[in-house]
Amino acid sequence: MQIFCDFDGTITNRDSIVFLTEEFGKGEAFRLEVLDDIKKGRMTVFEAIERELATVRVGWKEAVTSLREAVHVDPTFAGFVDWCKADGWPLTVLSSGMEPVVGLFVRDFNIPFYAHPVKVSQEGWIYRRNPHHDKKTILKSAKEKGEIVFIGDGTSDVAAIQYTDVLFAKQGQFLAEYCRAEGIPFYPFGDFQDIQGTLEGVLGVETTKAPKSPSMSG
Ligand SMILES: [Mg+2]
Repeated sequence: MQIFCDFDGTITNRDSIVFLTEEFGKGEAFRLEVLDDIKKGRMTVFEAIERELATVRVGWKEAVTSLREAVHVDPTFAGFVDWCKADGWPLTVLSSGMEPVVGLFVRDFNIPFYAHPVKVSQEGWIYRRNPHHDKKTILKSAKEKGEIVFIGDGTSDVAAIQYTDVLFAKQGQFLAEYCRAEGIPFYPFGDFQDIQGTLEGVLGVETTKAPKSPSMSG
């Protein structure tokens, strides 16, 4: 069993691209227009990210300060990482977002992550999709090696569905709504303890007692 996990809004409490667009870019109304374009199939997720980030006018240092204030890693994620490591389930973060931003939050967990390059500029951030890092590309080749568990929340996670054996979709978010509407089976989750519980219980995954991480005991 290989576990793949989205970043924005799945590991974190809010989406970094949404945050940057609303805080330093063209704002919420513009973002909702773009979201509508994705939902109606007029724009791909990658085109949407590219367009949103092109409106973001802030330098890296200021962006980092704001991101650290506004975006937080789910406090149950660290325990989930420990559980995966203890039980030998390979866990990989797959993001359609930006490498430097994902790295800010994920690097300390020492797990592999894939995202896309961005050129930060006061005149608008330039997002460059790396097709080798697409969810689709990575999951397609991973599927040849065995079963796939995917954890996600948003529009970019729809691309993962066809390669996924066990799908987790965050409660109340786009992916869960989409799956419900399309009749695609999924496990809803609120946090990573829910996911671990489901994997242990419903799927009968044998588990060792992973040490509790500090962030889980608080
Ligand atoms: Mg997401």
